[in-house]
Amino acid sequence: MSITKFDGILYGGDYCPEQWDEHIWLEDIQIMKYYNVNAVTLNVHSWCILQPKEGPYDFTKMDKMIKLLTDNQINIIMATGTAALPNWLLNKYPDMMAEDITGVRHKPGKRVNYCPNSPDYLREIKNMCEALADHYKAQENIVLWHLNNELEINCYCTNCAGKYREWLKTKYGSLKALNQKWNTMFWGHQYSAWEEINPPVYANMIYRNLDGTGIDISGFPTETIEYLRYMSISYRNCFEIEKEAIRKYIPDAVVTNNFQYRNFNYDILAKPLDVVSFDTYPSNGEPAYKAAFNYDITRGMNGLKPFLIMEMSPNQASWEKCAPIKRPGQVAQIAMGALARGAESAMFFQIRRSRSGFEKFHGAMIDHSGRTDTRLGRELMELGNAFKKLKNTFLDSKIPARTAIIMDWDCRWGVEIPSSVQKNMHYLEEVLYYYEWLHAQNIMVDVVRADSDFSGYDIVLGPMLYMIEENEADNIKAFVENGGTFITTYYSGLADKEDNIWLGGYPALWKDMLGLWIEETDALKVEQSNIVQMSASWLTGDYQCGFLCDLIWAEGAKVLGTYGDDFYQGIPCITENEYGAGKAVYIGTKPEKKLLNELLKHYCDEKNIEPILSTQAGVEAVMRMNDDKRYLFLFNHNINVETVALGEQYKDVLQDVVIEKVELPVMGYAILEKMNF
Ligand SMILES: [Zn+2]
Repeated sequence: MSITKFDGILYGGDYCPEQWDEHIWLEDIQIMKYYNVNAVTLNVHSWCILQPKEGPYDFTKMDKMIKLLTDNQINIIMATGTAALPNWLLNKYPDMMAEDITGVRHKPGKRVNYCPNSPDYLREIKNMCEALADHYKAQENIVLWHLNNELEINCYCTNCAGKYREWLKTKYGSLKALNQKWNTMFWGHQYSAWEEINPPVYANMIYRNLDGTGIDISGFPTETIEYLRYMSISYRNCFEIEKEAIRKYIPDAVVTNNFQYRNFNYDILAKPLDVVSFDTYPSNGEPAYKAAFNYDITRGMNGLKPFLIMEMSPNQASWEKCAPIKRPGQVAQIAMGALARGAESAMFFQIRRSRSGFEKFHGAMIDHSGRTDTRLGRELMELGNAFKKLKNTFLDSKIPARTAIIMDWDCRWGVEIPSSVQKNMHYLEEVLYYYEWLHAQNIMVDVVRADSDFSGYDIVLGPMLYMIEENEADNIKAFVENGGTFITTYYSGLADKEDNIWLGGYPALWKDMLGLWIEETDALKVEQSNIVQMSASWLTGDYQCGFLCDLIWAEGAKVLGTYGDDFYQGIPCITENEYGAGKAVYIGTKPEKKLLNELLKHYCDEKNIEPILSTQAGVEAVMRMNDDKRYLFLFNHNINVETVALGEQYKDVLQDVVIEKVELPVMGYAILEKMNF
């Protein structure tokens, strides 16, 4: 079953006909058909056309475009256009603009720069969405509604402050409860009236650019995190308003927004969305596991579901500091890489390259020459042919993962709004550090939450899981009790979601499960390191470590490794504890890759977790499956042609041949169906 109203893989991109004369539209349609484009996203930036001045909407131009697309059997993803507001509107309602953390109110110019709590903004987007949905309610080839566009900023205006206080009143019920939960007696900061609470900005509690490092810290991290959480809720509210307005006229409309994993809690933002979309822009030379991790994150949003790629660049990403052209085969490899991990679309930004503006040199399906007899043109046509052939093959198939890694948006704030002993921490990079080896082994991984259902997994990793609520800690304990292996690290299980430390020895909620407590944590500078001396029955030797060093007291846990240097030489740093029918492993310092790989390999071997396919380094294998079919995706990330032995017969889905080995060109890929499954 498709996640949109189109029974296939969406292929196309953002289209901005409002930038072009109508004779160009006809050329564009011909090129779209040549490329086998089956969907375009309209109206991301065209509010000023639909409503050039205050008053009624004018859909004349949009109607014309939609008729042209419909006559040519091209589907439409209808954007609501609410991220790019017309100048007349912003000038009439200046409070509609966001106020930044320095106290400066934005002025018309950029996009996605509105205040999500402005009553004027909320009224206008509701009106716009209702008008759009009413006008296009009978337009059957609108297969998806695209709410707003890539969120960017937070607002700190008086409007948001007022709404924030209302939200806090509902959440806490009384000031007394808030003061208690926020521990406002620290620095004598207790609130005696709701009006005293303000958004956290430089003027009140944020210390800017600590010691010239470029790092901001908050005097009151709890409040900063709470406000960021509220901002995500505010944007969620905008999504809900848009969705409700569309559903008023189209009850079965499917809605999405395109995520980029910026400074928001995306679990909050994902709630009203039927489908989550991601905009993928991997840089040239970026290791493949980074993009794969983003796709696994996106599949993990709103539960483990297929997702959409709403934007990628068919060539350069012009906003990069240095933007190389995509190498031959690279565009298809990126598109199929996302498809392998659950995507059901390959949409580009954009279809025709703009003549001017910020993205005039950003890659596009139709570049400034308007020609298709180009390297890129041939690749886009071949990619379109591939999607046409694949039809609805992968829709609703699953990734067979027995390993999961916990990633939590609140933890990201807890780690990166630092009040800890190590300031330069990047949460997603830390989680990636533990994901990388699994990816390199072609082991499928789901990215989940601490309160997810772990019953399908043998191993769950929780790196740097700083914030944990009691129910989440219990969920993980139950997983271990029932026979699972849980692997966690330094800076985990320390605080609740309001950033209050759990008392009684770190990590208080897991001391019994881990069989240890941590007395102190040393912070090492980048140039410093310590040594892990491994003494497990299955691994001995010395390895480098650094970053953070927990000084552990084992109380029941088996010590696998101890420090080899400094005054805490001999103190445990890596432990394993049997708990119920399972095991809880604690890695109390950041181990060098070689040691981490050995640890992960040992625990995967113990659970018989095997690669989807054993391949040479640099060849990635991914599997999607449904009830009766298994599909193996292979990608060559090396600089040489690679031949991969399959060990059994597969059908090459795109070439229609049965094979036992496959030759992958540089930047090549293959999609294989397992025979006799
Ligand atoms: Zn605001």
